[in-house]
Amino acid sequence: MNKLCTNNLRKFRFYGIDGLGNLFLDIQISRKKREGENSMSRPVRFLHGAWTIILASLALSCSSGSGGGLEPSPPNPPPPPPPPPTAPLISGKAIPLYPEMGTSNLLVYVRKGTNADSSTVASDGSWTVSSFLLRDELDVERLVDNRGSLRRFYPSLSVIHKEDYTRMDACVLLPTKYTHRAGQFAGQTLDVGLAEVFTIAIGPMGNSSFWKRTGSALQVYHTRTWKQPPVRIAFDHEGTKERISAQDSVVFFSNMEPINHATGRQYVVAASKPDLNVRQTPDGLRWDGILIRKDPMNSGFGIGDDDEGNIGSKGFGFRPDLFRHKHYTIHEMGHMVFGVGHSVWKSIMSPVIDESGPMFTPKDVMYMNLLYDVAEVQRATGTKCGIREADRGRLWMESLRP
Ligand SMILES: [Zn+2]
Repeated sequence: MNKLCTNNLRKFRFYGIDGLGNLFLDIQISRKKREGENSMSRPVRFLHGAWTIILASLALSCSSGSGGGLEPSPPNPPPPPPPPPTAPLISGKAIPLYPEMGTSNLLVYVRKGTNADSSTVASDGSWTVSSFLLRDELDVERLVDNRGSLRRFYPSLSVIHKEDYTRMDACVLLPTKYTHRAGQFAGQTLDVGLAEVFTIAIGPMGNSSFWKRTGSALQVYHTRTWKQPPVRIAFDHEGTKERISAQDSVVFFSNMEPINHATGRQYVVAASKPDLNVRQTPDGLRWDGILIRKDPMNSGFGIGDDDEGNIGSKGFGFRPDLFRHKHYTIHEMGHMVFGVGHSVWKSIMSPVIDESGPMFTPKDVMYMNLLYDVAEVQRATGTKCGIREADRGRLWMESLRP
């Protein structure tokens, strides 16, 4: 009956009572409109007596919500509920440095102050977080962390600026343990200690950490290594009267062998100067290999990088009296080939060379290999996110310790 009132019986009104007491109602019936069909209006005559029953029942059934009476207005439908607000999305990819480490039990947090939203990381490393924190277009923190107490990776913490919300944020995850896969120390597993690798070693030739933080806080951090091994090494006689003899060359490259032996990779190969490409930079000429000279001033230029992360060498001047000295050669080439500074642990890369110590320690080789491995994955995946974010994650993790 209600359906009739609200849907079909659009309008009826008291039409009149004739002398016999018969009631006339003008009933307008709207059917669901089919094509070409209009609503109908027809006067209906009811016998006296019957109309009172009909009138009463209509009044009863149609009175609800309309105050009763014979002319109810259709009830106003409630306004549709507003659509539920949707939080902006941010997505990215977690890339384990070594694929066998997998992405299980990884969580991604989008944080601002004490507020955080999170999501799990899929098996292919992809993740998406929905967070209202992104609605305010502020800088937020993105933290990728291991669930549970065992950390296979350093937490990766980065600040995402509002203009980067929609960019796919891929980041290489640094392991907390490293197993040598090849070379002199194959099979040995060590802790990766980001604290020690960034600790400044104090030495007579200057202070430096083993790994370098390049660029200012606002610049993109990149790992400072050569593009890929092997690094070409050539001798240079320009600008010096000191000659490098054939015998010098044999001894020099023989002294380089511990690098390839310890790492299990061919990191250095002999080349000639014309093989190397050179380019002009604001800091002078840079070669895409290492030029070795004899230079009484022991001019150690090392390697450098430009804003795009292109590595280049200005060359290196070895002291003539030390040209065939094995520890000295390895130490200096450690700087040149791997881009590392000085170690705070006892090694060939200590600020003061220990001639009685081993050529390389498992730790030296681990950190040298890690730099190249991170750089290689970053190039393959087109991201610069990795070591800096792991270092930030490490600092955050240490701040949680009582
Ligand atoms: Zn040094």
